[in-house]
Amino acid sequence: MISIKSEREIELMKHAGHINYLTHQEVAKNIKPGISTKALNDIAHKFIIKNDCEPSFLGFEGYPASICISINDEVVHGIPSKRKIKEGDVVSVDIGVSYKGYHSDSANTYIVGHTSKEVEDLVENTKKSLYEGLSVIKDGVKISAIGSKIESFAKKNNLGVVRELVGHGVGTSVHEDPDVPNYYTSDPTRLKAGMVIAVEPMLNLGREDIYMEDDDWTIKTDDGLPSAHFEHTVLVTKDGFVILTGE
Ligand code: MG
Ligand code: MG
Repeated sequence: MISIKSEREIELMKHAGHINYLTHQEVAKNIKPGISTKALNDIAHKFIIKNDCEPSFLGFEGYPASICISINDEVVHGIPSKRKIKEGDVVSVDIGVSYKGYHSDSANTYIVGHTSKEVEDLVENTKKSLYEGLSVIKDGVKISAIGSKIESFAKKNNLGVVRELVGHGVGTSVHEDPDVPNYYTSDPTRLKAGMVIAVEPMLNLGREDIYMEDDDWTIKTDDGLPSAHFEHTVLVTKDGFVILTGE
């Protein structure tokens, strides 16, 4: 079932989204060669708790950390560890924050230092694809229009669109209905004002195929090429949308 949020719920989600945004800023400040992904996780965890919120992912379906950090050929759901960030790494950070039981979900990808032009373009175009997808959002539009936009933008730029993982509704659970795929589907479901959804393209420099690591969480590209991930939680309105996890 797709929920329509009340004014009160929207206010709580705006706050969760704002703290999510600020947590990303804290992590971004600290991403540099030599820091471990666990240290970044702990910085995010402490910041979220200090702001009277909770990390949505900790314990979600058994996930063992507060945020997800996925490096290079890791697409999503990388578990923070002793692994140290290196010069040239492509680092995707996915953060969930809840406030009084209402969630927000947002991801950003960072290039640490310098990398190739094609990897820079991957990251830039994945970010652009998110905004392309968001641009069609308003009351009455088919949800599938979002994925169509993302997919055509990705194809134009020769990037692989991950199909097994999709965007989703957000509310009292970090993942709720509806699914928001990053590719065209014939699903006739339409957006309604008051829905809150997370749009989250995961684009690969190479092929779209992925596999799951032995840790049962980390998703990697089959061909070993890098992947990028950007995500915002947005409120659907009569005339458009409001990003809840932005500035
Ligand atoms: Mg996320
Ligand atoms: Mg999400």
